[in-house]
Amino acid sequence: MTLRVGVLGGTFDPIHFGHLRSAVEVRECLALDELRLIPNATPPHRDIPGASAPQRLEMVRLATASDDNLLVDDCELRRDRPSYTVETLESLRTELGDNATLFLIVGWDAFSGLPGWHRWEDLLQLASLVVLQRPEQDQELPEVLKDLLAARSVGDPSAMQAAHGEILCLAQTPLAISATHIRSLIQAGRSPRFLLPDSVLGYIETNGLYRP
Ligand code: ATP
Repeated sequence: MTLRVGVLGGTFDPIHFGHLRSAVEVRECLALDELRLIPNATPPHRDIPGASAPQRLEMVRLATASDDNLLVDDCELRRDRPSYTVETLESLRTELGDNATLFLIVGWDAFSGLPGWHRWEDLLQLASLVVLQRPEQDQELPEVLKDLLAARSVGDPSAMQAAHGEILCLAQTPLAISATHIRSLIQAGRSPRFLLPDSVLGYIETNGLYRP
């Protein structure tokens, strides 16, 4: 049997139910053997996170502690340089071999910015892409991505069998939750409860994260 591995990278500043529910649904829908959550160290595409890398990692660990099928991979935090997804996929390929079926899971917002990623055209040589719908998505796709979707899209999850190179747009339970919203609630002295696991909220409160 070929190993089927999904990778959900992110800043996870903090991790929330939008990430976690998507992870579970993708895992089931694509019959994955493993789903790895990979917090990034120095995100190349965005502002400095509100929590440190070890704190973001710890929150991902707390959030996934009760689910043996969600694995936390700290490979990008062990690298002493910006987190480029293409390099993470290359090291996963080395680890898992050419036959493994690898899926890079990204939200629609991340997908719409793909042409700005380091060596983005190599990504599909290494993995297939699973693009998650986000309820608040309003980004218009650049032409190059429309062409890519036209050429590589697969309509049915059960048809995703290639080791790499395909794209699936997946409609999962829409949860309009973002880390930005959670941080702004805390900054405003309001509660983000029930948008993220209680264990993560407890960690945020104990460590005084995201306060003004
Ligand atoms: P921020 O608001 O700080 O930008 P975020 O909530 O988008 O953060 P990230 O850590 O940047 O979280 O997201 C990691 C990945 O998960 C990205 O590909 C993102 O598009 C996706 N994602 C985040 N939230 C959701 C959600 N509610 N539904 C589906 N995908 C999501």
